[in-house]
Amino acid sequence: MEGALTARDRVGIQDFVLLDTHTSETAFLGNLKKRFSEDLIYTYIGTLLVSVNPYKELDIYSKKQMDIYMGVNFFELPPHIYALADNAYHTMMTEANNHFILISGESGAGKTEASKKILQYYAVSCPSTTLLDSVRDRMLVSNPVLEAFGNAKTLKNDNSSRFGKYMDIQFDIQGDAVGGHILSYLLEKSRVVHQNHGERNFHIFYQLVEGGEEDLLHQLGLESNCQYYSYLVQDECANVTSINDKNDWKTVRNALSVIDFDESDIQHLFGIIASVLHLGNVQFEADSKGYATLNKNTELRWVSTLLGINVQVLQEGLTYRKIEAKTDEVLSPFTVDHAIYARNALAKAIYGRTFTWLVNKINDSMENKEPSRKTVIGLLDIYGFEVFYVNSFEQFCINYCNEKLQQLFIQLTLKSEQEEYEAEGIGWEPVQFFNNKIICDLVEEKHRGIISVLDEECLRPGEATDFTFLEKLEEKMGSHPHFITHKLSDKKIRKTLDRGDFRLLHYAGEVTYGVVGFIDKNNDMLYRNIKDVMRQSKNAIVRECFASTESDSRRRPETVASQFKSSLLGLTDILMSKEPWYVRCLKSNESKQPGRFDDVLVRHQVKYLGLMEHLRVRRAGFAYRRRYELFLQRYKPLCPATWPHWRGVAAEGVEVLVQHLGYLPDEYKMGRTKIFIRHPRTLFATEDAFEV
Ligand code: ATP
Ligand code: MG
Repeated sequence: MEGALTARDRVGIQDFVLLDTHTSETAFLGNLKKRFSEDLIYTYIGTLLVSVNPYKELDIYSKKQMDIYMGVNFFELPPHIYALADNAYHTMMTEANNHFILISGESGAGKTEASKKILQYYAVSCPSTTLLDSVRDRMLVSNPVLEAFGNAKTLKNDNSSRFGKYMDIQFDIQGDAVGGHILSYLLEKSRVVHQNHGERNFHIFYQLVEGGEEDLLHQLGLESNCQYYSYLVQDECANVTSINDKNDWKTVRNALSVIDFDESDIQHLFGIIASVLHLGNVQFEADSKGYATLNKNTELRWVSTLLGINVQVLQEGLTYRKIEAKTDEVLSPFTVDHAIYARNALAKAIYGRTFTWLVNKINDSMENKEPSRKTVIGLLDIYGFEVFYVNSFEQFCINYCNEKLQQLFIQLTLKSEQEEYEAEGIGWEPVQFFNNKIICDLVEEKHRGIISVLDEECLRPGEATDFTFLEKLEEKMGSHPHFITHKLSDKKIRKTLDRGDFRLLHYAGEVTYGVVGFIDKNNDMLYRNIKDVMRQSKNAIVRECFASTESDSRRRPETVASQFKSSLLGLTDILMSKEPWYVRCLKSNESKQPGRFDDVLVRHQVKYLGLMEHLRVRRAGFAYRRRYELFLQRYKPLCPATWPHWRGVAAEGVEVLVQHLGYLPDEYKMGRTKIFIRHPRTLFATEDAFEV
């Protein structure tokens, strides 16, 4: 017994709900830290999994480990991401309903790694037939491909997700993983043409240039040196020790053939990546009237060859804009700055649309066409909350998205949980928590939120600027408790410094957003004539990407922020219709060092993620609840008085049943319509009674 106690002392408590001394933040952190120092990165709060990024490879993800966790009750083994994956899977199978796993945490906390582990678990440990193996392989290899195109090194994370990803894994009635579907959210396209100090462009560019075979590079007109490309050398950060572009290239190249890409698709795809690099090197000069011209157009010729577009037409598209006059169209020449702007807009559009094409293509290859009934487990891995020295429109969108997910978490765990106790008449001492709805409203409220103000300004071309947007914000939001801006008197200084900013008090901390670029990025304009040019491309992917009906319609396209807002509302609906599971990832330190646990940093995350409040609700509350009718239906065979039929009121039948099973008074409560069971182990014991 003494040995067991010593072990418990050493490894801490594996479920915070059982941390019996007290529920103070200090005890909570102490327990996390103790476990972390023993390489125990996972701890439960009930069925929620807390994960602390170890920044080192741990030997806990082998096939052997997967086998250990398969089909075993949640609390019988040490906490693990596999246990959560397995529990979600078995609940889905027994209850025949849909689930989702929400993985959250700030940038670099380990969300993407966690989502990969879960996917691997399902791919490896679910029953299998040879026919399905190919679908599974495709699901697995979709990860390196999407990461190559959608992830990049940032200051926070060497492999930071720059898009949001929600993936449904579909299971058939036997529990086989039979298909998958991905929804992607707002890719940070601006990275294609600009990276902040210490950051890189998307991985795929470096992979191709560093790893591409000589023949291929020759065909694409590329040098095997990143330094040659202006889109890649903005911050002399091409080589990063943690990234092996050459090896990653091989993985991606191999993955593309697994996901049904034929050789011509692959050629076209690389043609696009190369053409973006060439486009970045296209230089303009001013002619005698100050208009943009191209004197040395080797790079443009490469773009023209790779995209299969006449070089003259392409050049015109980059240096002129078609303006519709009353009866005619006139060509208006660009200045050099304007031409650079148009060039960058084109590079971003080509890349962004190709990314969407890629997701669709991967979806086609993972699609299961069998009409049979399927249930799903959705995996949500989205860009984490981030604060840089310079924050722009992209961080505004990313952080807004994180606010929405936090709101969903609050709704599902803290708010509705407590409301349910009240509605069911269960005696309850309410737990106070910070509800971030106020910040979500500040950003997204119709006619009043920041997005609305931004959209209004975007409707005043020629008149509105980033600064008029800021002025409107100050006017409308000035007194909001989560909005901070400089005093109006500072405006002059701001304008002369060519910068202006506003600050939001997010649930996870304060972020200052520079307004420069907001209007432009929200409009995301691409001139119509350059779209027409792209439509002539002989590169099948480009043609497909630009062959939409958008240019035919004269309607103003939705702005980027509004589109993003609608897609997040859609995502919330998808999630709300499913049963939730949570993984809360914590970053152990800012310098990506193995084994370092920064108390202040972890404490901050524990606070803003609402983990203490969650724990309090969990400790005082009930892990499991079920409507009386359903509970009785499932467990009535365990009691002679209820089997085969209970003829009275369901609640009374349940009371008889649990008395017979020997539930202690403290273990459960009877609500108005449901039975509430305090701890899952009570239910596990009841389930086990079936087997006896
Ligand atoms: P972002 O929001 O920027 O996409 P993220 O939360 O997805 O961040 P990850 O990319 O999953 O963060 O993790 C960052 C890095 O931390 C990984 O590249 C890896 O080096 C390390 N890491 C994360 N989780 C683990 C783990 N379970 N074991 C070992 N290393 C890990
Ligand atoms: Mg990620």
